[in-house]
Amino acid sequence: MDTQRFHNKVIIVTGGGSGLGEDYCHGFASEGGIVVCVDIDEAAAIRTATALRETGNRSIAVPCDVTRTHEVEQMVEEALHTYGRIDVLVNNAGVISRRSLVGTTDEDWNREIDTDLKGPFLCARAVVPHMMERGYGKIVNISSVAGIVGCISTAYAASKAGVNGLTRQWALELAPYGIRVNSVAPGYTATPINEKLRLTPAAKRIGETIPLGWGKPADITAAVLFLSANESDYITGQTLAVDGGLTTTVDMGPEYRTFDT
Ligand code: NDP
Repeated sequence: MDTQRFHNKVIIVTGGGSGLGEDYCHGFASEGGIVVCVDIDEAAAIRTATALRETGNRSIAVPCDVTRTHEVEQMVEEALHTYGRIDVLVNNAGVISRRSLVGTTDEDWNREIDTDLKGPFLCARAVVPHMMERGYGKIVNISSVAGIVGCISTAYAASKAGVNGLTRQWALELAPYGIRVNSVAPGYTATPINEKLRLTPAAKRIGETIPLGWGKPADITAAVLFLSANESDYITGQTLAVDGGLTTTVDMGPEYRTFDT
């Protein structure tokens, strides 16, 4: 396999200061990529970009709230001004609130939908004209198993299912311009976003229910890099669940797993 799949490619990763996004940044850089690390948490974005530069890679940190049009446009301008092009956009920044339907306030709904659904729209809208001009680009939207099956909460399910819809729509609309758009739907993966959940007994039960157990950031990164690289050029509009089998199986319990022969 080519070990420098992103040689001189410029990649924007939103939410790159923490968790999965941070892991993608390291993955892209380790294969020659130039990373624009975007995060609402400026210190976290700087930490990631600095770590990449310290290992000899090119990277800048850009503080940006992906829910704000003007900040997103400025972020894209800064990336273009610094590196002259954008090859890949990874729409990863996200938040999660584990609220029941009745317990979901207007504020919860707006925060989740604004970050997880409107954020990818604003970032793509700002980046795509440039990709169209070049006739090339890759967009990878980070969805969730919660956009495929019911397993988390109201606003999160709506935003992630929406992301899968955007992926299909953009794949159609942008194919004539050489832009491929896909989603990765991670399953339960240990990152700061689920720190609280991992301290409860539910964490063990979840691990036992998923055929391959909890995932590691590297599992998700492998898929994100694949869908960002040239090798996946004939794939567009797909949502790839990287979930250890969670969305393709139903666990009926150990008794059901015995066989006649
Ligand atoms: P983290 O909380 O570790 O990372 C998310 C990053 O995004 C944080 O640095 C966060 O900053 C930043 N962020 C939040 N809001 C904004 C915003 N408005 N603008 C810019 N940056 C923002 O979570 P994960 O790495 O786990 O999650 C990354 C993505 O993966 C999310 O979209 C999530 O929904 C998805 N996902 C994760 C799964 C998992 O099991 N970990 C499973 C399925 C999907 P701050 O910390 O300040 O909020």
